[in-house]
Amino acid sequence: MIFNPIIPSPKSAPVAGRTLYVGACPLPPVKISKDHPRYRSLVTRERMAAMVEEGIVAPTGLIAHGRGEAFDYLLGERTVPEAEAAEAAAAALLVLAERPVITVNGNTAALAAKEVGELARVVGAPIEVNLFHRTDQRMERVCAFVEKETGLKVLGRDQDATLAGIASDRARCTSQGLLAADVVLIPLEDGDRAEAMARAGKRVIAIDLNPLSRTALAAEVTVVDELTRAVPNITAWAKRFRGRPEEAQGTLASFDNAEGLRAVRERICRGLEAPLRQ
Ligand code: ATP
Repeated sequence: MIFNPIIPSPKSAPVAGRTLYVGACPLPPVKISKDHPRYRSLVTRERMAAMVEEGIVAPTGLIAHGRGEAFDYLLGERTVPEAEAAEAAAAALLVLAERPVITVNGNTAALAAKEVGELARVVGAPIEVNLFHRTDQRMERVCAFVEKETGLKVLGRDQDATLAGIASDRARCTSQGLLAADVVLIPLEDGDRAEAMARAGKRVIAIDLNPLSRTALAAEVTVVDELTRAVPNITAWAKRFRGRPEEAQGTLASFDNAEGLRAVRERICRGLEAPLRQ
């Protein structure tokens, strides 16, 4: 069911003195014309909403998605040169890693499970499912969904370890996967976990459209690009670097994350002054 604050639930009448946003209602499917200038974004929104109904995306995941969309809009909904450089560096780090791991949450699963599966195969990294809103039932659902989409067995059902420095349930991870990893790719991760991974000595690659987020700042390589563009690009670079470790090392050595983030912030500011679509 999709949470719809506009239509009140017939079961609950408003209570005086309390703001009441109740009322789940099934929404009718919409038709989106391919000519619509925001076609891709609208189709993705519909998919994300459907994934809430499937129990893959948490309702608050839609809000996180919206924040991402806003930044993508400001960047012109394309892979900017700074992102391309970060994608190459991310691929280099993954190819050179001894024990790379890719973490997947509900939004990542809904948006790009297949693409993440391909990257996992190319760089030989296990996928570990980590959920912000975790229940055993949802964990099973997301793991099963990612396994179906990727054809790979995932980690996450048996979280037998914890990340130091996080008080909540969010500390949970697997000893085989995240805890043992030297390099972690964390698409759409939250700041607490990203910081904890960096403190634990992991080399962190983030995919996050917000260049100001704690995740973006905690990572060694921050890919400021939309997930569904970023992952296939990283895979393409990884295919190139396989068997060319020197080239991968050179790419990594010349990459400057702080400079890339600064340039993206500047790009956003410039874009605000001169609309990108003219
Ligand atoms: P932090 O906790 O790292 O300071 P945050 O509160 O913004 O930041 P979350 O809400 O946990 O982090 O995660 C959502 C992040 O993911 C947002 O920064 C958003 O920009 C980004 N995001 C959402 N959807 C996408 C997407 N499709 N591709 C890339 N980034 C995305």
